[in-house]
Amino acid sequence: MADMAEKATLCSKCGDNEVKGESYPRWCSNCRTNYRRELEAVKEGRTEKKGFAAGVTAMRECLAAEFDKLGSGRFEASEVADLIMRSPGPKLD
Ligand SMILES: [Zn+2]
Repeated sequence: MADMAEKATLCSKCGDNEVKGESYPRWCSNCRTNYRRELEAVKEGRTEKKGFAAGVTAMRECLAAEFDKLGSGRFEASEVADLIMRSPGPKLD
C-alpha cells in the first residue's frame, strides 16, 4: 500500500514529469502551461483573421462609397490607383 502511494504518476502528455493532485487531464504543469499558451495563440489568430476580414469589407465599402460620389466619368487606371492610395480608408468605430 505504501508503495502505491509513493509511486509517481507521470504526465499523460509528455510522459516525463510527475503529476501532482487529482486534476484531469493528468498533465504536468509544463504541459498545462504550454497548452494554455498554444490555445491563446490560436484564439489570437482567430481574432486577427476576423479583424482582417472585417477590415477588407470595410475598405471595399469605403472605396465603393467614394467612387460612387464621383459619379460617372472616365478615369485612367493610374488615376484610380492614385484615388485608392489617397483614400483615408474606413474609420475604426
Ligand atoms: Zn507533461
